[in-house]
Amino acid sequence: MNQPNTSTLPPRHGVALVVSGPSGAGKSTICRQVLADRPNMRFSVSCTTRAPRAGETDGLDYHFLTRTEFESKIAAGEFLEHAEVHGNFYGTLRAAVEPHLRLGGDVLLDIDVQGARQVRLNSTASGIGAQYAFVFLAPPSLAELERRLRGRQTDAEEVILRRLAAARREIAAWHEYDYLVINDEIPRAVAELTAVLDARRCAVAAWIGDPLAPQE
Ligand code: ADP
Ligand code: 5GP
Repeated sequence: MNQPNTSTLPPRHGVALVVSGPSGAGKSTICRQVLADRPNMRFSVSCTTRAPRAGETDGLDYHFLTRTEFESKIAAGEFLEHAEVHGNFYGTLRAAVEPHLRLGGDVLLDIDVQGARQVRLNSTASGIGAQYAFVFLAPPSLAELERRLRGRQTDAEEVILRRLAAARREIAAWHEYDYLVINDEIPRAVAELTAVLDARRCAVAAWIGDPLAPQE
């Protein structure tokens, strides 16, 4: 079958998939696979003041900053949103999201519920709310969440306890989201998140102008 010549297709906005969920729910695992399936989708690399975990790479997983560096980016207005999560600062760079969306590319954001609230408010206020889809990724149970946090073997006991305490509060925010994906089986959660992306790419609001207007 011939591939469509995308250069002749009318323009549309990209889709920003905002994924939140408690630490250990599987956001990194699921997002990594969705990104592997959708090479045109870009991961929004966040800034953080937390220390890198074993296996994390600066500039790929996060931009690891000092508190002073983070504060100067706040002052310069570089963040789309930022929040304090589990005692560290995290923020999404405007430059990681907005230029790509404008060019029709899709972007994946892994951010906490406070950050998602800011993005929802700001995008709605500036009339671009339709470009954002908010997905809550939940574990099948709190007991399984604890198993996953411990099984990951990346955090000290005190950090695990802090993250578990925050999980109940975060899970209570699920109803603020447009979609709920329960990460019981990895392939099913990946398929559901990809389905949300594909549906939003077809949303009428994603098209710029009138894509069906007769061509001259
Ligand atoms: P998050 O990014 O939400 O903090 P991770 O992606 O790091 O979570 O996942 C936490 C741990 O749980 C990891 O060790 C990961 O391999 C594991 N995990 C993720 N999804 C599943 C799943 N569906 N079933 C079992 N283990 C999972
Ligand atoms: P972790 O330290 O486990 O990588 O992430 C801890 C929490 O911070 C997760 O809930 C994750 O979604 C959130 N997070 C990661 N990047 C950002 C960001 O840029 N902004 C906000 N608000 N939260 C973030």
